Amino acid sequence: MSDKTLKILIDKLQKEKDLLDAEFHTLIEGLRVDMDKDLSIKPTRNVGYLFSKARGARDAVYGNFVYLRGLIEFTNICKNNCLYCGIRAGNEKAERYRLSKDEILSCVDNGYSLGFRTFVLQGGEDMFFSDDMICDIVSDIKRKHPDCAVTLSIGEKERESYEAYFKAGTDRYLLRHESANEKHYGMLHPKEMSIEHRKKCLFDLKDIGYQVGAGIMVGSPYQTLDNIIEDLRFMKELKPQMVGIGPFIAHKDTPFCDKESGTLEDALILLAIIRLMLPDVLLPATTALGTIHPLGREYGLLAGANVIMPNLSPGNVRKKYLLYDGKICTGDEAAECVECTKRRIESAGCKVDMGRGDFKRLTFQESL
Ligand code: SAH
Repeated sequence: MSDKTLKILIDKLQKEKDLLDAEFHTLIEGLRVDMDKDLSIKPTRNVGYLFSKARGARDAVYGNFVYLRGLIEFTNICKNNCLYCGIRAGNEKAERYRLSKDEILSCVDNGYSLGFRTFVLQGGEDMFFSDDMICDIVSDIKRKHPDCAVTLSIGEKERESYEAYFKAGTDRYLLRHESANEKHYGMLHPKEMSIEHRKKCLFDLKDIGYQVGAGIMVGSPYQTLDNIIEDLRFMKELKPQMVGIGPFIAHKDTPFCDKESGTLEDALILLAIIRLMLPDVLLPATTALGTIHPLGREYGLLAGANVIMPNLSPGNVRKKYLLYDGKICTGDEAAECVECTKRRIESAGCKVDMGRGDFKRLTFQESL
């Protein structure tokens, strides 16, 4: 593929925020070849060109600020059996835990004093936490810290539950769709789960008024380039305010223990493409990206990401929220995580923003 063709496609993607399926194929395959040679961020190469366009798109909406979110992994108990996930119900080796309300609130207080103004409560689908309990926790956080945003990431629920969490003050909800393709989704999940229901949840969440995050694992088992393009199409349709993208990484006690992990290169290409497709999206450089490569998150920022989620979970449970092998930052304290994250952000030429960091709708002027 000639350099010229790829640059034309990148320019078209930036301008029209979309490509034909065949063009996405050409672009992604061409960039993959480019990336194989070296992970170049020099603007002369196609990948460097893509990344600099992606950063430009980000900077036009958000500046080069990176928003920090305090992540609290409050339970690793889960009723589901997603084949890729280390905390799946069927993993008898996982050491289970759940934090009490007081423990969650003290993580939030600690995070607040470190400067965080967004808290992400993530967990398995743990039926112990009734809707009333979740609402009680969220409303207590909001009462104590009215200047903060609260994000939930606790899986698929009924619309009434999402409505109740929203009324209690929840601002945002993360629910990766994992794969928009029915067949591929079915290969990653047990038969009780369906992409149809997951999509319904995402559309319900948007309709209720949440800032919503969808997303996928890059390089998940059996994923094809066509699947990825279908995921891009779904994201265009849903128009999420956030997109979580990270490489799949095998966990030794899951059915996918022998599957190859996704690559840093593919994850970066996709981050940059998503930034150009949805310029105003909040796009994290994920922990999985930092796990697959020591500088993965810094590269993520160079490819157009603008969010990092340092871990605020208590030290004694961190090693237990193991979605995949080798997860980073399981030995650090919250304050260390924050300092380390800030250094990384600055080394990638970005600035730290500890504010709520809400979604900003791209204005007409900015889109030109
Ligand atoms: N129960 C919540 C939170 C799931 S964990 C929910 O269903 O939304 C958050 C994300 O971690 C998942 O959406 C998945 O995309 C990712 N994840 C799980 N296992 C992983 C693995 N082995 N490698 C990389 N990412 C993984």
